[in-house]
Amino acid sequence: MRAILNSQALLETIYLIAAMLFILSLKWLSSPASARRGVRAGEIGMLLAVLGTLLHHGIVDYTWIAIGLVLGTVIGVPLGFVQMTAVPQRTALSHAFGALCVTLVGTAEFYLRAPAVPKFMMAVLSLEIILGSLTLTGSLMAAGKLQEVLPQRPIIYKGQNLVNLSLLGIAIIVAVLLVIDPSRMSLFPLIVVIPLIFGVMMIVPIGGADMPTVISLLNSYAGLSAAAMGFVLDSKLLIVAGALDGASGFILSVNMSKAMNRSFSNVLFGAFGQEQATVAGKVEAKPVRSATAEEAAAILAAANKVVIVPGYGMAVAQAQHKVRELYDALTKRGVDVKFGIHPVAGRMPGHMNVLLAEADIPYDKLLDMDEINGDFPQTDVALIIGANDVTNPAARSDTSSPIYGMPILDVDKARTVMVIKRSMAAGFARTLMLFGDAKGFVGNIVRELSGGGHS
Ligand code: NAP
Repeated sequence: MRAILNSQALLETIYLIAAMLFILSLKWLSSPASARRGVRAGEIGMLLAVLGTLLHHGIVDYTWIAIGLVLGTVIGVPLGFVQMTAVPQRTALSHAFGALCVTLVGTAEFYLRAPAVPKFMMAVLSLEIILGSLTLTGSLMAAGKLQEVLPQRPIIYKGQNLVNLSLLGIAIIVAVLLVIDPSRMSLFPLIVVIPLIFGVMMIVPIGGADMPTVISLLNSYAGLSAAAMGFVLDSKLLIVAGALDGASGFILSVNMSKAMNRSFSNVLFGAFGQEQATVAGKVEAKPVRSATAEEAAAILAAANKVVIVPGYGMAVAQAQHKVRELYDALTKRGVDVKFGIHPVAGRMPGHMNVLLAEADIPYDKLLDMDEINGDFPQTDVALIIGANDVTNPAARSDTSSPIYGMPILDVDKARTVMVIKRSMAAGFARTLMLFGDAKGFVGNIVRELSGGGHS
C-alpha cells in the first residue's frame, strides 16, 4: 500500500514537471532567440509524460505498450525528417494520429462503461469523440490537399454550408440523446461516423492557401478532444496538455486570420482560391516586361538599397542558400540589402524567418512588414522571390479580390520591382518579370554578379 502511495506521489511529481515544461516550452517558442530551448523543453516534457505513464501501477502487461512504442517510433522518426515545405501537412498528419487515438480510446471507454455512464462522463465522452472524429478526417483531407494528393482548389456547391452544419447538428443531437439515456447504445456509432463525414465535407470548400489556418484550428480541436479524454481517463496531465494545445492552436489561427485581415468564417466558408483565377486573369492583360539574369544582376549591382521579399516560391525551390549568396555578393559591393517579411508569407507562421535563419542571414536584416514598409519609397530595387499574395496591390483596391483588405508589403513604392517566378500568372505595372525557378534564377544572378556569367 505504502509502495503504491509512494509511486503515486512520484507519478504526480513527474506529471507536474512535464506540465511545467509544456508551459515553458510554449513561452520559449514565442521568440526566435529561445525557440530551440522551447523545442527541447517540449521534448523532455513529453518524454517524462510517457515514462511516467509507463510507471503507472495499473499496467499489468507491457506487450501491447511495447508494440505501440515500436509502431509510433517507426512512423514518427521518418516524419521528423520531412522537408521544411512539408511541415504543414506533416503537422496535419500528427493531428490525425492524435485524433485517431482520442476516438479509439473514447469508443473503448464508452463500451467498457455503457450502459451505466454518468451524464457528465457521457457529455465529455461525446465531445471527445465528435471532435476526435472530425479532426481525424479533416486533418487527413488537409494533409492530402497540401501534399497535392487531392486537388487544392476549393470545391463548392449550392447549400454546402447548410449540409455541413446540418451534419454537425445531427451529431450534436445524437450526443444529447445519449447523455439523456446512455443505454441507447445503438446510437453511439452515429457520433463517430457523422463527424468523420463532416471532417471531409468541412475541408472540401477550403483552398490550399487557407489550409495552414485550418490545420491550426484542427490542432485546437485535437487539443480540446485530448483535454476531454483527460476527464474521461482522470488524467490531469492530459487535461493540462490538451488545454494548452487547444488554446495555443486557437490563438495561432486567430493571429493568422488577423494577418490576412480575414474572419474565421471567411477562412472556413470563403472558398479562398476559387476566385484567384479571375484576379490573375485581369492582371494578365497588362503588358509585362521580362528580363534575363544578366539584366537583373546589372540593375541590382547599380542599386544602393535593395529589399528582398521572399515568399512561398522561395520555400518550394529551397532557394534560401542561393539567396544568402546573393545577399553576400550584393553586400560585398556595398549595396544595403534588407529582407521584408510578411507575417503570412509562405505556408506557416515564421516560415521565411526559419528558412533565412537556416541560411545564416543575419537576423537584424529581417524586417517585419510594419518596419520595412516605410523604407520602400527610398528603395532602389524590391526583389520579390516567389511571393505573390503578400505583395499583390489588388489587396488594397480590388474589392472582388479574395485577398482584399489583407495588409501587404508596399513593394510597388520602390523605384524598380523585380519578381522571380516560374510562370506568367500575375504581374503588375512597372514590374520586371524574371521567369524561372527561384533557386536557379537567383543562382544565375549570383554568377553574373561574381563575373562568372560571361564565360
Ligand atoms: P503565394 O501567394 O502562394 O505565391 C507564391 C509564388 O511563388 C507564386 O507567384 C508562384 O508563381 C511562385 N513560385 C512557386 N514555386 C516557385 C519556384 N519553384 N520558383 C519561383 N517561384 C515559384 O505566396 P506568398 O506571397 O508567400 O503568400 C502566402 C499565401 O499563403 C497568402 O495568401 C497567405 O494568406 C497564405 N497563408 C499563409 C499562412 C502562413 O502562416 N504563412 C497561413 C495561411 C495562409 P509560379 O507558380 O508562377 O512560379
